[in-house]
Amino acid sequence: MTNSYAYEDVEVLRYPRYFNTPNQEALCKKVAALEKTEAGLIFASGMAAVSTVLLAFLDKDDHVVVQKTIYGGAYNFIVEEFPKFGIEFDFTDGFSEEDFTSKIKENTKVIYVETPSNPLMKITDLEMISRIAKENKLVSMIDNTFASPINQTPIDFGIDVMIHSATKYLGGHSDISAGAVAASEEHIKKIWNVGKNLGGNLSEYTVWLLERSMKTLAIRVKSHNRNAKKVAKWLEKNDLVAKVYYPGLKTHPNYKLAKKQMKGFTGMLSFELFENVDSSKFLKALRLIKPSMSLAGVESTILAPSKTSHALLGEEERIKQGIAEGLLRLSVGIEDRKDIISDLKQAFEKSCV
Ligand code: PLP
Repeated sequence: MTNSYAYEDVEVLRYPRYFNTPNQEALCKKVAALEKTEAGLIFASGMAAVSTVLLAFLDKDDHVVVQKTIYGGAYNFIVEEFPKFGIEFDFTDGFSEEDFTSKIKENTKVIYVETPSNPLMKITDLEMISRIAKENKLVSMIDNTFASPINQTPIDFGIDVMIHSATKYLGGHSDISAGAVAASEEHIKKIWNVGKNLGGNLSEYTVWLLERSMKTLAIRVKSHNRNAKKVAKWLEKNDLVAKVYYPGLKTHPNYKLAKKQMKGFTGMLSFELFENVDSSKFLKALRLIKPSMSLAGVESTILAPSKTSHALLGEEERIKQGIAEGLLRLSVGIEDRKDIISDLKQAFEKSCV
């Protein structure tokens, strides 16, 4: 590891904040290969990636159409920071073609989606988004964190820019913070230019850790997929569970669409408990599944979005987005699924009121 590279007689000036150390370049190529794009970039966090990408394509007086219900941090970034830059934005009222097209204005430059979305696992039609973007000359962007490139490669449907919180599935061991972007050579050049000014590059040590983690990405994600499907089916049959949100369930309103654009349905699911279950008692009673802010690690974790990831949205906005107080988001790990289910079972038994 080093941050110093000889520059005499070389064409490339290498420096960590220029995203071009040999380790960064090797990792960027991996991300691009996974997302089937020409190029990639690695960042210090998912939010460094989200913010850099959006600022790279939006100038003062430009406008962006953003999908309703996206990750709370991305929502806050847009709502709190864009007014300072003079960037306009509109969130859609829903997920239909009309919901997106009705928000497009003369100065719209970008359309931004997240699918499956955090925390309600809503599915947005990627082919539709790409068509809307092309018809209106917009750059289409997706936060592909929840799916991971193993389950979903949005470029297959014509999406321009793929963003990841690599803190999640790409890292996968709940021990690093990182972000990643994949796009065409031309788009990546634009993102790079803003990125080197904002300084959200990943440290060399973490570049190494992330590259090492990604060697097992496919095998981990397939295991997450299998376990989550079983857990979702088990939860769906449980009398104490009011609703299960998992795109791999036939009862999910977008099951067919999810099947069309995803190769697997991820390890992420959410569920709502009936009122006769005390959700904080339930969380405390879990022994294997740990309450945690993060997700997509090899170990199963759980959180209440209304009190954590989406707390900053405020109650009114959460209600608007359909995030109930009793909603729990479960990140199903790769443990033996019988252990996961028996942990849920014993916690249910202890939390019935
Ligand atoms: N996108 C999604 C879907 C997320 O869930 C998160 C974090 O939870 C982020 C982006 C932000 O990533 P980070 O925490 O690595 O900045």
